[in-house]
Amino acid sequence: MAPEVYALVPKRRRKVRTVRHALVDRTWILDIAGAPSALALWQYVQLWSRLNTMDWVWTTDGQCSTGERLARRGLPHAPECPLCDQSEETMTHLLTWCSFSRTVWFEVLSWIRSTYGPPSEGHFVEWWSQVVRTAPRQLRKGTSSIIMLTVWWIWKNRNAAIFDNAQLSVPSLLSDIKTEAQQWANAGARGVRQFLP
Ligand SMILES: [Zn+2]
Repeated sequence: MAPEVYALVPKRRRKVRTVRHALVDRTWILDIAGAPSALALWQYVQLWSRLNTMDWVWTTDGQCSTGERLARRGLPHAPECPLCDQSEETMTHLLTWCSFSRTVWFEVLSWIRSTYGPPSEGHFVEWWSQVVRTAPRQLRKGTSSIIMLTVWWIWKNRNAAIFDNAQLSVPSLLSDIKTEAQQWANAGARGVRQFLP
């Protein structure tokens, strides 16, 4: 289901963890050795969306838990979203309702000439596949890649805001996404190239 994520988990631990078992326990995220790649993060988002029974909360020390579990253990609730300071930070919020992320999505969708609006709450992967399906055939691959890149860069910005106190800026985030898209295109990603000058 998510080979990249799976590959990050040390071998000896794989045998004792089913995906569901791993995902409902926050130790799952601790199994991941090293920083996730864009692809691994993407697959994680897909897994999370498929097992959409709870909302993940990312705590500032990089661990992952849910608001419900935190509450049960008497721990304080999730911190505010570092991108907008307006809401509790959950994966759903970060990718969909966050005002900062929504501005990014508006810009990205207009860049890739999509008629779709930003994702709606709780159904990120369904939204993504609709945007791809409704794109002209020759643009589908590139559309899919650009959305994946955007998820990755929203995530990187979130980390930079938390760990490096970085200033957030939509234009600079968009420029980072386009620079990386150019690198992908140079490396042979033909779908992405169609959105570049
Ligand atoms: Zn937010």
